[in-house]
Amino acid sequence: MIPFNNLKSQYETLKEGINRNIQKVLDHGHFIMGPEVDELEQLLSRLVGAKNCIACSSGTDALLLALMAKGIGPGDTVLTTPFTFIATAEVIGLTGATPIFADVDDKTFNLDIQSLCRAIALCKKSSHRLKGIITVNLFGLPCPYDEIIPLAKKEGLFILEDAAQSLGAVYHGRKSGNLGDVGATSFFPAKPLGCYGDGGAVFTDDDQLAEIIRSIRIHGKGKDKYDNIRLGLNGRLDTLQAAILLAKLESFPKELEERNEIARRYSDALASVVQVPSVPEHCRSAWAQYSIVTDQRDALKEYLEKAGIPTAIYYPTPLHLQGAFKDLGYQAGDFPVSEEASKTILSLPFSAYLTEKEQDLVTSRILDFFHDY
Ligand SMILES: *Cc1c(COP(=O)(O)O)cnc(C)c1O
Repeated sequence: MIPFNNLKSQYETLKEGINRNIQKVLDHGHFIMGPEVDELEQLLSRLVGAKNCIACSSGTDALLLALMAKGIGPGDTVLTTPFTFIATAEVIGLTGATPIFADVDDKTFNLDIQSLCRAIALCKKSSHRLKGIITVNLFGLPCPYDEIIPLAKKEGLFILEDAAQSLGAVYHGRKSGNLGDVGATSFFPAKPLGCYGDGGAVFTDDDQLAEIIRSIRIHGKGKDKYDNIRLGLNGRLDTLQAAILLAKLESFPKELEERNEIARRYSDALASVVQVPSVPEHCRSAWAQYSIVTDQRDALKEYLEKAGIPTAIYYPTPLHLQGAFKDLGYQAGDFPVSEEASKTILSLPFSAYLTEKEQDLVTSRILDFFHDY
């Protein structure tokens, strides 16, 4: 069986550093907001090129912290894509605001600019108080910020970059996490940079916003945690998770290179039989997933499963059709590109630790499927 996401091999490779860092925390005993959290924030802020990094309890909480700090609440509307993980739109609803969707591009599966413009026009005609856009860099590929940033400026909207899948990605030389007004990432184990539990981080160049986020992260603290100047969360990152991330961060740049090389090899082998990911010239993806598109998706998935090759579907139901959002009144057919993608997309085994032999097995089985078909 080929591993879908090879965390085991990664641990075998990085074991010494990870174990040493964990032991250090067990020895010093500062399990909450220990020195590793501070060190991690400094290194990540340099990696992303953002003035501020605020480590927190998950990618979901990173998004929520950003929206809360922006003062988003009842009566507000925030635009996003329906072709993403539930968390992206869930946090909008949790603040009391209303999520509004716009469709994605059929090659990148990131927000489509025409669809965004249409959604904004619709908001203007209604009573919606549109405040911002959450851009999702799906599968690690940055959105078309060259188009989105001028549009957001013109309309007076903030951009919250959902960089949960794209830490390490680059857009025109700028790092993902700092492509909007505020960025949120996740350290869920399967993300490009993952810890061994839940974790996340918020990035921003805005010092004032960063101060509010730091306060909300610890129950809305003022001078100290028993001075509470606003409502907040228990949103900290554990010291142990920070220590694990510090050990993994050393090999992260090399892993990103390897992810790009493995993606290139997949695309070279598969471009003749399926739609392979398209990466615009000025982008470097972090390759959170390597996803192909084929109208034989379900048959291919079953065929590969029988051959011991696990695959995954991100995402089987676009968010506008989820039960959690049924009150928004969307219907099948509202976002045809997202709906079609949910039926045709398939993510292949992928990690920096996928061996050439394993990869050749995946690609040869896929080619077999299309030749037998
Ligand atoms: C993983 C993910 C999140 C949520 O991150 P968690 O750390 O699991 O809370 C949010 N948005 C996207 C696009 C994700 O892939």
